[in-house]
Amino acid sequence: MNPAVRDRLLRRLPCPASAGDPLAPHTTFRIGGPAEVFAQPRTVAELTEALRVARDERIPVFYLGLGSNILVSDEGFDGVVIRAQEDLCRMHMAGNIVCSGPGARLLDLTGFVAAHGLSGMEALSGIPGSVGGGLYMNAGAYGAEIADTFAEADALSEDGRVQTLRRGDIHFGYRRAPELENVIILQSRYTLRLGDQQSIYAEMRRVWKLRRAKQPLDFPSAGSIFKRPPGDFAGRLIEAAGGKGARVGGAMVSPKHAGIFINVGGATATDVAALVRQIRRRVYDEFHVLLEPEVKPVGFKEDPFAIAI
Ligand SMILES: Cc1cc2nc3c(=O)[nH]c(=O)nc-3n(C[C@H](O)[C@H](O)[C@H](O)COP(=O)(O)OP(=O)(O)OC[C@H]3O[C@@H](n4cnc5c(N)ncnc54)[C@H](O)[C@@H]3O)c2cc1C
Repeated sequence: MNPAVRDRLLRRLPCPASAGDPLAPHTTFRIGGPAEVFAQPRTVAELTEALRVARDERIPVFYLGLGSNILVSDEGFDGVVIRAQEDLCRMHMAGNIVCSGPGARLLDLTGFVAAHGLSGMEALSGIPGSVGGGLYMNAGAYGAEIADTFAEADALSEDGRVQTLRRGDIHFGYRRAPELENVIILQSRYTLRLGDQQSIYAEMRRVWKLRRAKQPLDFPSAGSIFKRPPGDFAGRLIEAAGGKGARVGGAMVSPKHAGIFINVGGATATDVAALVRQIRRRVYDEFHVLLEPEVKPVGFKEDPFAIAI
């Protein structure tokens, strides 16, 4: 970005903003170069104005949740990275409906709901993303998805309009919510049912135990690197193709769960991308299945995961 444009942008943004912040600490992979500008709106008004200013200056925007499903390039992001703060991270109850800002942690939302003796989100309790990111991805685990309890969400479109999308407006699929792909999710609301609090906490503990047993939670990662191919599991295919434990630089296919790539120390985005391509190739050559990445690349000039087939 031209330094004069960057400085003007920093002056015009209505919220706390800084230049050159490394993005690695904002991702669960602990990988990624700097954001040219990192803006932290605290309210819907600040967020809307920040987007308007970026559009006005023709600067690309990346909306960051909790960085648990992205791979940021080593060069970083040449534009404005926006991350919600304060009001945008709050939640409250309205009867049996929980209302959440986009920046709240799913971990906090599931705990909040359980503390009110409400059931429906237990299986989501260990997912380390934000509520907005969870909805954008239709995050799910152990047979449940965020779509199951979804009631409605306010969505901010590129032209600054806010509209409310209701349950029937969104065609949720496996790890996708197509109607939410080109908007920023603001507050979203979920309908829950009264439950037995002991059973709710017991279910959350059970899910946590499963996660700890199966996932390499002691290393930085972005969770499952690939989507589940129809009728199979990415981890099973990778293991069967001999990919478990494969390594490029500091990036490794977890020896505990082959569907998760871990940063064993000093991994770069280049390492992870090379490992993704290597594993896609192996699985394709062995089984004719082209694994589709679940993790979103950010700040790359070309698709870093593409292989020629
Ligand atoms: C250890 C580990 C375990 C995991 N387990 C699971 C699991 O069991 N199930 C599962 O589904 N996922 C899992 N994940 C992946 C990840 O946590 C989810 O995909 C999560 O929903 C991503 O949310 P985020 O806030 O981190 O999004 P980010 O990674 O920050 O962003 C992901 C995408 O969402 C977009 N986005 C974020 N917020 C908004 C918003 N408000 N409006 C519009 N777009 C938005 C971003 O622009 C980006 O394109 C796991 C990850 C890790 C590291």
